[in-house]
Amino acid sequence: MKIGFIGLGNMGAPMAANLAKSHEVTGFDTVAQPAGLTLAADAAAVADGADVVITMLPNGDILRAVAAQIHPAMKAGAVHLDCSTVDVDAARAVADQAASAGLLAVDAPVSGGIGGATNGTLTFMAGGSEQAFEIVQPLFDIMGQKAVHCGPSGNGQAAKICNNMILGVTMIATCEAFVLADKLGLDRQAMFDVVSTSSGYSWTMNAYCPAPGIGPQSPADNGYQPGFASELMLKDLRLSQVAAMAADADTPMGKAATALYAQFVEDEDGAGKDFSAMLPRFESRRHS
Ligand code: NAD
Repeated sequence: MKIGFIGLGNMGAPMAANLAKSHEVTGFDTVAQPAGLTLAADAAAVADGADVVITMLPNGDILRAVAAQIHPAMKAGAVHLDCSTVDVDAARAVADQAASAGLLAVDAPVSGGIGGATNGTLTFMAGGSEQAFEIVQPLFDIMGQKAVHCGPSGNGQAAKICNNMILGVTMIATCEAFVLADKLGLDRQAMFDVVSTSSGYSWTMNAYCPAPGIGPQSPADNGYQPGFASELMLKDLRLSQVAAMAADADTPMGKAATALYAQFVEDEDGAGKDFSAMLPRFESRRHS
């Protein structure tokens, strides 16, 4: 397959590198110029003649702008596969735009972070037609370990946003429970041993424990270096609130989590720290 790859940042560069082992890949980024990839002069040149154009960009506005550049240059029947995390409306608008240009579109945000992108173990949550999903499935198999077809365009973003809203809320709940346990004189290891095998268990407790020295190795054991940075969690929580507003869904816990991460990242010292650094934040007993 002839593949164009636009957005060669922390995630895009290793994803493109994995694809380039078995496909012809041409990349473009306004800033990044990773070694070892064939690079083009602009986005349209990447799209010209490609069977699939993958975008891995910071947000929905940039995605819309790049889509407007590449769709006219893509050949009929080619697929625009967007793997960025963006708002559901942007994903659906780009898919509509692709359809009116005679193209197919898949929105497939990822879970798994930079490690998953490098090791080819990402999980993709995909929205789009069955036909489009089948065309890009072999690329998912190279870049990831799992791809779930979630329904029509925008549903990949919907799945990502809902998952990460649960993740943000659960991390906060896990961190505040540890701080309460501390105050009540409950040993952290005992807390972990009980909760991780009881009804309070969760991925944030069992697999990514925010307390240093407890549970499996996690960013807490590495000075809260990310991992998954607090500002990325804030981005995804904000997308959940944009979606909730647009869909008139009541998400009070998502709203509270968004406010806490916004305060942590923008007014405190949370930027650049893993999202599990909510635990030391609560330990220092800041009020929101
Ligand atoms: P990044 O900022 O490292 O990379 C984005 C790249 O896009 C940059 O290199 C930038 O120069 C490029 N870019 C911006 N505007 C452009 C344009 N008009 N044309 C071409 N290139 C352009 O970000 P990242 O960490 O690689 O994340 C990419 C996407 O993946 C984001 O939507 C993010 O939310 C999502 N994501 C990231 C992670 C993670 O752990 N980093 C995990 C899951 C999902």
